[in-house]
Amino acid sequence: MLKNAGVATPRLDAELIAQHVLGINAVAMLVDADMPVERERADRFFALLNRRLAGEPVSHILGRREFWGMDFIVNSDVLDPRPDTESVVSSAIKIYKNRNCRLTIADLGTGTGCILIALLSHYKHATGIAFERSVKACRIARQNFVQHSMLARVRLHCASWELCEGKFDLIVSNPPYIRRCKIPDLQREVRQHEPLQALDGGARGMEKYTQIFRVLRRCLNPSGKAILEIGEDQGAIRNEALRWNIGFCGYELDLAGRRRAYQRAAQLS
Ligand code: GLN
Repeated sequence: MLKNAGVATPRLDAELIAQHVLGINAVAMLVDADMPVERERADRFFALLNRRLAGEPVSHILGRREFWGMDFIVNSDVLDPRPDTESVVSSAIKIYKNRNCRLTIADLGTGTGCILIALLSHYKHATGIAFERSVKACRIARQNFVQHSMLARVRLHCASWELCEGKFDLIVSNPPYIRRCKIPDLQREVRQHEPLQALDGGARGMEKYTQIFRVLRRCLNPSGKAILEIGEDQGAIRNEALRWNIGFCGYELDLAGRRRAYQRAAQLS
């Protein structure tokens, strides 16, 4: 059914929905392949499958998505965590090798909170501050901070990152960076089900980075680093950063290994 509807991963999606309805994980589903299923659950499975057929992302149907081996609450108010963005986390881990360091981290445009939560779960003594100007997205971020027991280590500001103050060892961001003229080319699922304001990076896709550079100039510790997700064709970020007198340390490769995504995280200091 899903395959004929042009769903890219029909089997996986159907399995995830089945696991959700049955309340079991992938292993249990393999082991218990012949388990009897009550009528109600079967009906619920087909109801959810129909939502998938109508183009709703599987993450929104399940209400969650995995990132960095952790589960995050998602809905259409936040950008879905993507595997590409894990390279922001891995990049930080390569720079700050001591897991016990007391890093101070700022996350600009936190969305689900996934980057900051992944970092705080790695660096047990780190603390963070998160900015998110969408009130609806803030609600989801807060739920995720609670779910991952991070609320005591995070200050969540429902405000523009331009209000960021203080000094940080690490500033991370996955800002909106899609060129406005490219928005219509995004997958229908993304266009219709994810918040446009988390994607739209203005005419050149660079608008938000310029704002962020201003924050970096003000809020990065002298030895601090910034790691920003960038689009596949945004290598020019290097020159832009230099114009702001911000040093450029390198790119990180995308974990997902997709061809379009060969330089996903820019490290700046
Ligand atoms: N990676 C997202 C996409 O390609 C874009 C995310 C962003 O603008 N930060 O759909």
